[in-house]
Amino acid sequence: MQKWNFILDVKLCQGCNNCFLACRDEFYKNDFPPYSRAQPRHGQKWISVKQQERGQYPRVDVAYLTTACMHCDDAPCITKSDGAVYKREDGIVIIDPEKSKGKKDIVNTCPYNAIFWNEESQVPQKCTFCIHLLEEGWKMPRCVQACPTDALKVVKLKDDDMAALVKSENLERYRPETGSKPRFYYKNLYRFTTCFIAGGVAFQDTDECAEGAIINLKDASGKVLDTVKTNNYGDFKFDGIEKNSGLYTIDIECPEYSKLTVTEEVSECRNIGVVFLERR
Ligand code: SF4
Ligand code: SF4
Repeated sequence: MQKWNFILDVKLCQGCNNCFLACRDEFYKNDFPPYSRAQPRHGQKWISVKQQERGQYPRVDVAYLTTACMHCDDAPCITKSDGAVYKREDGIVIIDPEKSKGKKDIVNTCPYNAIFWNEESQVPQKCTFCIHLLEEGWKMPRCVQACPTDALKVVKLKDDDMAALVKSENLERYRPETGSKPRFYYKNLYRFTTCFIAGGVAFQDTDECAEGAIINLKDASGKVLDTVKTNNYGDFKFDGIEKNSGLYTIDIECPEYSKLTVTEEVSECRNIGVVFLERR
């Protein structure tokens, strides 16, 4: 049996919120029985775009993480809802708008805060994967159709094929420690969840940018973790470093100049500023 999965490439997501607007356009004031009641005017984000700024000026960047119901395979919203929430054979998790009526507690069963309470209709609500459209022959939900960068996609695959795709594309789950086995996967998740060390290198004698300097990143034991070259502005960046992962050493080498070593404690993103190399 093929099952649906969401995939977001964090590197491609621009935070434009088109996915959110498309979702609002589809569900605000529109009932789709037997899958969903209309969204209310305010207060619900069935798909939501989180923003993460990293670094210190001027070495900063921003990443966006689009989240929705993860259509989990071990979904606590199902096990704690007395039959009001169910998983379809195609992987999609649905809150039954009739059976869930008046059951506000269901909102708190989701570890991803993907369920919202509709005070007007007295029902818990969330993303339905636009199942009413898929049943009409649509190949994707409205949010995916509205994504201008193809950051957000859906695939319908057998579990084995999905596992192979996860491996080949280095896809990850967001907050896997929830244990709920989400069917929403992320590419380049490190852009949102990890930190970087960046800096600039210049020559002290000429005050020029040190293009092409070799930078080695080492862990506390001295093991080289990564090697990069400075760009034409003398800048370098090591990304994907776990937060609060301790001491790192950065060795900077350039022909005819003395080697420079910088040690940094990494708790969050670090901009080490501009360092100057002295001619030997
Ligand atoms: S993300 Fe939350 S609402 Fe969606 S299936 Fe998982 S537990 Fe249920
Ligand atoms: S529409 Fe696409 S690019 Fe825009 S916020 Fe949503 S996922 Fe990101």
